[in-house]
Amino acid sequence: MIIGLPAFAGHPLDRADRLRADAARLAELMHAEARLLRLEGLVPRLDDDRRLQWGRLGDAPEGADVVFLGLLAGEALFAAVPTEGDPDPAYTRRETWAAVGQLPAEELAIYGGARSLLDWHARHRFCANCGQPTMLAKGGWQRDCPACKAQHFPRTDPVAIMLVECHGQLLLGRQSRFPPRSFSALAGFVEPGETIEEAVRREVFEEAGVRVGEVQYVASQPWPFPSQLMIGCLGHAESLELRVDTSEIEDARWFTRDDVAEALAKERDSASFVPPPRQAIAHHLLQWWMEQ
Ligand SMILES: [Zn+2]
Repeated sequence: MIIGLPAFAGHPLDRADRLRADAARLAELMHAEARLLRLEGLVPRLDDDRRLQWGRLGDAPEGADVVFLGLLAGEALFAAVPTEGDPDPAYTRRETWAAVGQLPAEELAIYGGARSLLDWHARHRFCANCGQPTMLAKGGWQRDCPACKAQHFPRTDPVAIMLVECHGQLLLGRQSRFPPRSFSALAGFVEPGETIEEAVRREVFEEAGVRVGEVQYVASQPWPFPSQLMIGCLGHAESLELRVDTSEIEDARWFTRDDVAEALAKERDSASFVPPPRQAIAHHLLQWWMEQ
């Protein structure tokens, strides 16, 4: 079993799919006093208790698309799609991460789901099929093109993220953008026509030159930057020989169980590497591996 839920998992809302298609009932729920998630762009606003702030639906910007997030204890929750510009400009990332680090788990899951959905709407205002403007439908869980009748659905991109084990050691890699001494699980998008297991084997071979045989699913995590499903796996390698492709990653190394234990114990100065942050599923995968 994995230790605890990864960040952004454990969404507490009733997604109430039946209401999405019931336009009359949804319209009743969308009154001016209904709860609207307070955001600036896609940055959450937190109250003094470090919880998500909620305003009134009546305060949504004029003409904004509004999505139905679901029901919390029977109460409908909504969020408005940012109306202007890039919903997630680079300068807001620090603010977003500061908020993410403070929110309780269930609120983080509500925010993550809302963020992915809003970001998708903000970037899919036009039909990918014919180029005409699309309209929000099904409470925000669909967009319809009135011109060519195409229907578009919020996307989630699968990413395989894997620990690779051989003779009791673990293969981890680092990207040049990582903080100094940080190593994490290798990862990559699952490509069209590929199974998860095939994606794990291909990515590990491309990045580290290591052949993986058996692949085991461990756990998954929704990751709202912008909308990935991280699929955590354990792959079993056939040999410790490495051939790192430095055009893909900066470095990859094998670490012993003691190395991983020290890194997770935050003995930062003496540990041989710095582990991924606790919000990342890679952190949970390392903890899980230590319990095996
Ligand atoms: Zn169209």
